[in-house]
Amino acid sequence: MADAEPDNANEPVPPLRDRISAAGRTLAIIARTRPGLTIGIAALTVLAALLPPAALYVSKLLIDGVVAAIGSGLESDRNAALRWVVIEAGLLALLLVVRRGLVFQKARLHAELGFAVARLILDKANRFALAHIEHPRVQEMLIHAKQFAAARPYGLIVRGFDVLQAAVTLVSITALLAATAPWLIILMLVGGLPAFIGNLRFSGDAYRFYTARSPQMRERNYLESLVTNEAAARERLHYGLGDPLLGRFSDLFHDMHDGDRRLQGRQAVIGSLLGIAGSAIFLGGKLWIVIVTIGGRFSLGDMTMLIGLLKQGQNAVNALLGAFTGSFEDILYVTRLFALLDLDEGRSAGTATAGPVPGDGLRFDSVSFSYPGTARPALDCISFQLTPGMRLGLVGVNGSGKTTLVKLAAGLYRPDSGRVMLDGLDLAAWEPGALSRRIGVMFQPHVNYKLSVRDNVESGVGMATLSPDAMERALAAGLARELVDELDNGTETRLSKRFAEGVELSGGQWQRLAMARAHANEAADILILDEPTAALDAEAEAAFMARPRVPGRSLILISHRLSNLRTADQIIMLEGGRIIEAGTHEALIGQGGGYAELFALQADPYRT
Ligand code: ADP
Repeated sequence: MADAEPDNANEPVPPLRDRISAAGRTLAIIARTRPGLTIGIAALTVLAALLPPAALYVSKLLIDGVVAAIGSGLESDRNAALRWVVIEAGLLALLLVVRRGLVFQKARLHAELGFAVARLILDKANRFALAHIEHPRVQEMLIHAKQFAAARPYGLIVRGFDVLQAAVTLVSITALLAATAPWLIILMLVGGLPAFIGNLRFSGDAYRFYTARSPQMRERNYLESLVTNEAAARERLHYGLGDPLLGRFSDLFHDMHDGDRRLQGRQAVIGSLLGIAGSAIFLGGKLWIVIVTIGGRFSLGDMTMLIGLLKQGQNAVNALLGAFTGSFEDILYVTRLFALLDLDEGRSAGTATAGPVPGDGLRFDSVSFSYPGTARPALDCISFQLTPGMRLGLVGVNGSGKTTLVKLAAGLYRPDSGRVMLDGLDLAAWEPGALSRRIGVMFQPHVNYKLSVRDNVESGVGMATLSPDAMERALAAGLARELVDELDNGTETRLSKRFAEGVELSGGQWQRLAMARAHANEAADILILDEPTAALDAEAEAAFMARPRVPGRSLILISHRLSNLRTADQIIMLEGGRIIEAGTHEALIGQGGGYAELFALQADPYRT
């Protein structure tokens, strides 16, 4: 992550070496995805390229045949001319079928390639370590890849087909022209140049424009979501935020649109001038053909064919050169896609499933940790040991480092210095699956999965199916039994009103499900609960705290309500990422320090 750039960096065009490698890798993806389909499209493309010049040649034979039949008045010449009509019609019908077939096959390739690339992006996102996926640069690259780059590999292969088609057409047109009017070959090639010069002049502009503006686009999407999102609607309506948010949305739109319009305006003006130059060249060629035909050098059939060939040839040159410049832009985006896929994932998975000192439990040994890009450590030289069966309470004001400590204890962040160990082995050496089987966590904030109740609980065991008894026990541990009983479809109820027959839950009800999730993994011998009762009513909180200890299972409990921690074997008080007090409730009260002060503050309202 050392190469992180500021968010609004203007994206430079990647070096040629990277672009060539990106094009090669795109071909590899295409070859892996649907080789048969791709070859089929290539074959149809060659056919679609050969048919138009062939039809022109047949129409020349037809016209010459008609002229001959008029001249001779013979029945055999008349029949020959009519035969050419049938052949030309047959060729055109075949061209129609081939073109429809191409549209159909390309749509299939588009869908399948789109899926394959989306899978690559999502697989990559799935493999990032927490610190990496939280990095703004990675977030930006992910959004960019999903929004702009996902369709580019397909774009690139389509350009490849365009090149193939134009090249085959050009070769066959060149062969026909070489036999009749060779100098028209040069005119045809020159005629395609103006449009190419225009494309070349602008290639890369759109890429630079959109990559430089991706922070604004993200902001615009966010503002949009604040206005449409149901969770934000309460505050938007009450505080009257809609108009000011929409005002910002419009400002961003106009800002981006102005730049976009200027870019497109320039392209339109220069593009039209160059287009006129191309047409002038074509017109010159046409005049020459007509004059020479009147002079008697070409037959009428030749004239029709040559004019058609010149037009088709110029179009093919344009298509060929256009495909080259278009692929230049596609490759820029594809290069960014591969830059994302090549990023370090920061997850060097260990393989150990047991530690050398069973029973040592979870141990923090002089652990310090700073978030990337921040100077002040979020945790500073933290040491403690959580032995089997022990209950540890964590206290501290907002921002003192409690949640950060939970993330390190679950192995989601690696310490900058010091070590976090389970049974005497650094968490980095543990196989991630083995670690998550040993440690159950209720995170803060927890995720409210807008899936079924069952999914919300089974996500605690990696979506494995829980037996009915295990599901019962998890729900009971999360105090969610009654809540689920009241739902029409029980554990199968879909949560969130966004879905048909979905049910919306309250904050406290969601928290109960999150608690059930943390308890679903019964094999865990360490349970970490970050503010598990913050949204619960007093009765539920009391019921949760009164639950008997599970023998052998240790607990780290974070709670703002200090009375919840009275029975803890040890309480650690954090401030600014450091341990400022540690001991049992009685000992800390006896010390008369920060903990005792806070406890008195919380207890006072009930004393009077
Ligand atoms: P607590 O849980 O005690 O409220 P946290 O562990 O969440 O505190 O935060 C500790 C410090 O780390 C705070 O100063 C906070 O601003 C900072 N912090 C937390 N999460 C991040 C993050 N993802 N990136 C950068 N800084 C963070």
